[in-house]
This record gives sequence, C-alpha cells and structure tokens, in this order.
Amino acid sequence: MTDAFLTELTKILGPAGLILDKDLMAPYLEEERGLYHGRACAVARPASTDETAQLVRLCAAAGVAVVPQGGNTGLCGGAAPDGSGQQLLVSLQRMNHVRAVDPINFTMTVEAGVILENVQKAALEAGCLFPLSLGAEGSCQIGGNIATNAGGTAVLRYGNTRELVMGLEVVLPDGRIWDGLRRLRKDNTGYDLKQLFIGAEGTLGIITAAVLKLFPKPEDQQTAFCALSDLDQVLALLARARAMTADQISAFELVPRIGLQMGMDLVPGVGDPFDGPHEWYVLMELSSSRREGGLAESLETLLAAALEAGEVVDAVIASSLEQRKALWRIREGIPEAQKRDGGSIKHDVSVPTAAVPDFLRRATQAVLAAEPLLRVVPFGHVGDGNIHFNLSQPPGAEKQAFLGQWQRMNRIVHDIVVEMGGSISAEHGIGQLKKDELAHYKDPVALELMAKIKAAFDPQGVMNPGKLI
Ligand code: FAD
Ligand code: ZN
Repeated sequence: MTDAFLTELTKILGPAGLILDKDLMAPYLEEERGLYHGRACAVARPASTDETAQLVRLCAAAGVAVVPQGGNTGLCGGAAPDGSGQQLLVSLQRMNHVRAVDPINFTMTVEAGVILENVQKAALEAGCLFPLSLGAEGSCQIGGNIATNAGGTAVLRYGNTRELVMGLEVVLPDGRIWDGLRRLRKDNTGYDLKQLFIGAEGTLGIITAAVLKLFPKPEDQQTAFCALSDLDQVLALLARARAMTADQISAFELVPRIGLQMGMDLVPGVGDPFDGPHEWYVLMELSSSRREGGLAESLETLLAAALEAGEVVDAVIASSLEQRKALWRIREGIPEAQKRDGGSIKHDVSVPTAAVPDFLRRATQAVLAAEPLLRVVPFGHVGDGNIHFNLSQPPGAEKQAFLGQWQRMNRIVHDIVVEMGGSISAEHGIGQLKKDELAHYKDPVALELMAKIKAAFDPQGVMNPGKLI
C-alpha cells in the first residue's frame, strides 16, 4: 500500500472509516473456527454506498484486492484476507440503516450492514415477519446472509435467503454501482442478475443494500419435541406433519441422543424433556398468522396420530415461552457442546430429504470403519435434507491430531453425498475451506461457466480473490 493510496483512502473514508492499528484490526481478522489467520493492509468501514464505490474504484486502479466482510460469522473463511497483508478488508458494519419498511407491499429495504436480528425486529415492529433465522443472527449481517445465501431453521416454510431477496444494490469490482433495488414480485426483463450475487460470497461485488421479502407476522406458534421410534420414521413424521397441518410446519430439526447428551454435559440450560433416553428426536414448530387458528389442536391431533402410527414414542409440547426456549436450547446447544467437547470435523451436506436416513447410516458406517473411536454427531435441518454431519474426536484424543484427519474424513463423507445426488455445501458456502472439494466434485461444465461469470464481472480479479473459485 503506497502513501498516495492511503492518502486517497483517508480522503474518501475519513478517520472514522479507516483502521490501520494492528490491535484494532485484530477482531476483523479472527474468524469463528480459528482456521484462518489472515492479514490486511487496513480495514475500511465505509458509511455509504457512494463511499464504498469510491474506495473500490481506488482499489481497482491501484490493483489492491478487496475482501468484503459482514458480521464475520461465516464458517468457510470467505471473509478472511490472505496472509500477504496486501488486501483491503471492507467491513459493512457502519452501513446499518433500515431505509424503508412497506407492510402493504410486504417488503423492506435495508443496508447490507444491518444485523439480521435488527432486520427481524424492524419487520416485527411493522407487524411483519422476516423469516430468516440462524444461530448467528445476533451478529451476522443481512449482506453476509445474502452473500452466502444463508439457510437456517425456517427454510422448509420460507426458503433460503435466495427466495427472500427481491432486489439488490451492488458496488461492482470496477467501482460502478448497480441499482437493482426493485420491489417487484414480477419482472421478466431478462437475466435475473441479483441471483448471481446471492451466494457469490463477495466474489462478484459488494452488496450495499437489499429489498427483502416480508410475510404476515405469526400470531400463534406451537413447539414440540418428539422422540422417534427409529430413524426411518423421521420421513413419515415429516410427511404426516406437512399434510395434517395444512403445511404450517415452520421448523423440523433432527437431534440425535449424543447431541442432547453432550448438551446436558457441557451447555448450561440444556435438559432432557423425557424420563428415559431415545436414539433420535425431532424438534418441530408450527406457526400461523391466525390468532385463534387452532394451531395447538392441530399439533395435538398430529402427535396423537403419529403416536398411534408408531412413528413417535413420546412427545412434549411447550406450554410457555420458557418451555419453547428450553426445547430450542437443546437444538442450538449442539454446536456449542461440540466446540466445548474438543475437536470436531464438520460436514454441512444435503441429500434429497427422502434419502437422509440412508445417508446417515452409510456415512456413519464409513467413518467408523476408518476411525472406530470417533463420535458421529449428526443434527440439523432434516426437513430440508440438510444435515450437519459432524464428527467429534475420540474422548481423550489429541485435538490437533484428530483435526489432521479433516480432509480424509471429508473425502469419505463427500463421496457418499455426491453418489447420493447431494451437495457438499448445503448452506455454509465454499469460501477457502471447500474450494478444493468444489473443484473435485462440481460438474466441470458448471465450473467453467462459473469462471466465465467471474471473469465477466471481475476481469482484474480484485474482488475477494482466492475464494469460491
Ligand atoms: P461474513 O462471515 O462476514 O462473510 C461471509 C461471506 O460473505 C464472505 O465471503 C464475505 O466476503 C461475504 N460478504 C459479507 N458481506 C458481504 C457484502 N455486503 N457484500 C458482498 N459479500 C459479502 N449459516 C447458515 O446458512 N445457516 C445456519 O443455520 C447457520 N448457523 C450458524 C450458527 C453459528 C453459531 C455460526 C457462528 C454461524 C452459522 N452460520 C449459519 C454461518 C454464518 O452465520 C452465515 O454464513 C452468515 O450468513 C454469514 O453472515 P456474516 O454477515 O457473518 O458474513
Ligand atoms: Zn445449519
């Protein structure tokens, strides 16, 4: 970074918009799993789309690579700069304004740096729902959610982030602004350009604002925790639940016994709702915008039928907000418990929903054949066919030595996933972590088209290089 570049950058951003101090930069350079230790020439914190455009134009002219960052909660190293110390990290955190909420059009327009939880709150204040919901919602940003096409726990009902975005404003790698902030439910005027930026992990441009799709606010929510008679019944229960409730299921999450047990051992507030252990559980939630919609009766009828059919052997229904939170704590405690337990090798995979039980059996058998003492902790969004097939180290094993098996285990699991028509990254993206896996598994024609798109948008390769492709 030359002095002239720095002077220009300071002119654009002002003192509040630029961090050069090593200690102040540090939090932007550490990431969730501690896998990447990047360095940056500076951290830029633009306050507007215009400032973002000016700084990107400056970077393009100087050939300085730009790494966009949202809440830095991503799990694949996409927001971490490389080790050269030459890349400029651009944090969207100061662009945190809700520009407009329109409860008639059921849309809201927000800047990219708004924290997801604040997006949800602003929607609720207008009597609406923004349904995207995930464990990191208190710190991830909507721009990061869009850049990673985040999934979470409400996909079954409302779709991935991709389905929730109606328009985008983007600063392109050459510094031009693309104003695609449309609020239209119908617009057939050619290629749907916004879709290219959704899930692009910051490789095609910096998202600065978005129009989001809203829904009627739920007035009634019912939550149940069910013990399954066996794993295969998860499919029958899902189909029954969707059919019997007029598709009012808004979450359907799989919890294995070991996940509940680990939570009870290691995470405060996690307790077993049943008297005895069961091998598999489902956390199910129904929601409706009708206040007196009979949702509680719906859930009771559903569970009675599922018990009668032998799909479920026991179930509890939350009768208060505290109980609802306690049931969600079981599910949300699993990643936390794994972290406290020691080394954990991650797989964020999906298969067609109907293939989940088969996948779980095959993959479990294969990893245990390779490493008999590890513990398989599979959990997650089974209603979407998305399982976090995580492997915890053998008790007492050396953490780093276990993590050294990451690639070997990935290959075993991903081979099975791909053979079953699944995806090696269901919701967390590719970043740096899965770049080689993507190159190994993705259809060569698709990879070639992706490279052409990248080259068309960013011929100089200044926008988040080294990520995704
Ligand atoms: P960052 O981590 O800052 O960035 C992620 C990627 O997006 C990077 O490549 C970055 O360059 C790019 N990016 C960020 N902002 C922009 C922008 N404005 N313009 C262009 N590119 C940008 N993910 C799920 O999908 N589902 C889950 O259920 C889920 N649960 C999680 C639970 C926990 C506890 C944690 C820690 C993470 C979880 N994640 C989950 C992963 C993560 O929260 C999501 O990927 C989230 O969408 C990332 O948002 P962020 O703002 O933190 O982005
Ligand atoms: Zn998840």
